[in-house]
Amino acid sequence: MSSAPTPHPDTTAVHAGRAPDPATGAVTPNLTLSSTFARDAEGRLPGGHIYSRTSNPNRTALETALAALEGGAHGLAFASGQAASAAVFASLAPGDRVILPDDLYHGTRYLATEEFARWGLRPEFVDTSDLAAVAAALRSPARLLWLETPSNPRLKVSDLAAAARLARAAGAIVVADNTWATPVLTRPLALGAHVVLHSSTKYLGGHSDLLGGALVVGADAPADLLARLRSWQNLGGAVPAPFDCWLLLRSLSTLPLRVRAQSATAATLAAWLAVHPQVERVHYPGLPSHPHHAVAARQMAAFGGMVSFEMRGGFDAAKAVAGRTRLITQATSLGGVESLIEHRRPVEGPASVTPPGLLRFSVGLEHVDDLRADLAQALG
Ligand code: PLP
Repeated sequence: MSSAPTPHPDTTAVHAGRAPDPATGAVTPNLTLSSTFARDAEGRLPGGHIYSRTSNPNRTALETALAALEGGAHGLAFASGQAASAAVFASLAPGDRVILPDDLYHGTRYLATEEFARWGLRPEFVDTSDLAAVAAALRSPARLLWLETPSNPRLKVSDLAAAARLARAAGAIVVADNTWATPVLTRPLALGAHVVLHSSTKYLGGHSDLLGGALVVGADAPADLLARLRSWQNLGGAVPAPFDCWLLLRSLSTLPLRVRAQSATAATLAAWLAVHPQVERVHYPGLPSHPHHAVAARQMAAFGGMVSFEMRGGFDAAKAVAGRTRLITQATSLGGVESLIEHRRPVEGPASVTPPGLLRFSVGLEHVDDLRADLAQALG
């Protein structure tokens, strides 16, 4: 008997977690706003749901789709990326040593150093794109290796397979923040991560109209880790509302198309910026000059829609450019259909290690010629 072929990820993005509603035939999922679910006369729960903090049909559908897209065994949806990160840290024990990248989303840095360090976590930051540095850090006992690739905002690319091998050999859990690459470009679980994390506020949502976070746990992750994450999701209670789950599931259908188009435009604009006289340096893993281009070419299907660049004129020049764009909106966040630009240093706080003249550019779905024209006038 022949089994059905494994669907292509584009097909998974459209169909996973979705089926016509048996009661009404509705092709798109119904929105279940109810916070609680009726028991039958025997006290059973016919739909399998008891209370929407614990589970809800829209969240279950979303979690199924997220797990399928990342090739994982279990999806867990949260109210934001930070809530998902907090669940990971909370699943550890006070005293645990955690290795994180030196360049990563500043909110993750502060969550570890400001909140969870008080609780007893021992965060340490290393350049995870340098395997020798990862190996050296893992020589002392570590409970978890956190990878974020490409990193926010300098687009460092860590070799997921090699770093995960080192961590597993040292008995550490591997968590990969895949927000910037998305499963369209990189599948960290297949490369050795135990857990994938997303700020689904970004590319997964894709329209700058929802906040969300996600964890996808691989089939070979320790069972007690999954249990702790599930427990924290339920007891911590930072779960997404049904409508946000509904919106996010809808957005996943177009994720592959959006990310591929954004990557193509970003590659063109990165090459153009790289030879612009006002630009000192472009951070884009698709450029052959990027120090991690070879690793990126191996583990990414394309190089993504994020480009960071440093102005020759430093802090003041970057501030001025961000204030002059017209089509490209000066705003934080990324991964939406509309292009956004941000001067990072002032928003990252005192622990920022980001170069003062760095602009982070999230490339949207506008035409490349219009974006290039806007950048040209803003760069002067
Ligand atoms: N991880 C990365 C790589 C991010 O860029 C962000 C937000 O910018 C987060 C996590 C946190 O996500 P959220 O803002 O949804 O809490």
